[in-house]
Amino acid sequence: MKPILNIENLTKIYGNVPSQTKALNGITFQVMPGEFLGIMGSSGSGKSTLLNCIATVIQPTGGSIQVEGVNLQALKGRTLADYRGKKVGYLFQNFELLDNLTGRENILLPTSLHGVSEAESSQRLKQLADYLEITDVLNKFPSKMSGGQRQRICIARALALKPEFIVCDEPVSALDVSIQAQIINLLKDIQEKYNLTYLFISHDLSVVEHISDTVGVMYLGNLVEYGATEDIFRNPLHPYTKALFSAIPVPDPTVKMNRIVLEGSIPSPANPPKGCKFHTRCAQCMEQCKTEVPEQREIEPGHFVVCHLYDQK
Ligand code: SF4
Repeated sequence: MKPILNIENLTKIYGNVPSQTKALNGITFQVMPGEFLGIMGSSGSGKSTLLNCIATVIQPTGGSIQVEGVNLQALKGRTLADYRGKKVGYLFQNFELLDNLTGRENILLPTSLHGVSEAESSQRLKQLADYLEITDVLNKFPSKMSGGQRQRICIARALALKPEFIVCDEPVSALDVSIQAQIINLLKDIQEKYNLTYLFISHDLSVVEHISDTVGVMYLGNLVEYGATEDIFRNPLHPYTKALFSAIPVPDPTVKMNRIVLEGSIPSPANPPKGCKFHTRCAQCMEQCKTEVPEQREIEPGHFVVCHLYDQK
């Protein structure tokens, strides 16, 4: 099987010399069809920039993004519009429904923009409305819907043109906790029903663990660890991943939590540390970490880490 998404050495730099900010720094990974990839990392890690490059909302500075072998940077005009509409669907944190349109009109916006016939659009609308249980809100305006209903309308809109993959930027973080679980389970059901590929970013580690097949961990524009969700949560390798996981609450009160508290704050992406970008906060920092950039190593099949601790392994 070939990857649906192939990202190679992706870089995004904002601004000009001397005040440049490197938001993405040589990101490389692949996503297979039907895979659910969760990207974790604190704010400023570059998660949203990565998603926006894949969604063609912004142009990367260097490297390449290939979708089914086609380089996104080469797409223009009609082919770019088709990619944006038919290949990829978007789910963002803010519902971004048009307030002056009903639920039905919001869902059908992409089909009318892409010239899909009325008969086909109506059929798709009925399928989605039945499946997502939103038939009774199709004639309502967003202001009259609950948060969960608005998010279901957004999901229907994202699926209206039958995309092959969906990019999700914190799609449940603005919802009540009770609704979050429903939407997360719904996204998973949709993946199975329509055989979709997902790229999902979230700061909620338990959501990522629950929903993802594969996980990437980002810190200051770098992908520091990548692998199967089970491997990463069972055996986190990078000191940053270990610190993130140490903060996950354990339901059993008899289990003692060994919280790793990171010193200091995240350095500015405009002025990142030399060597390993994490060295200013890493309790295991060695002399070489301050000057030498670590390379990506595969520690077990499909489990990659970028850290000098694994140089000899
Ligand atoms: Fe810590 Fe060094 Fe590994 Fe960076 S390379 S995470 S500073 S041990």
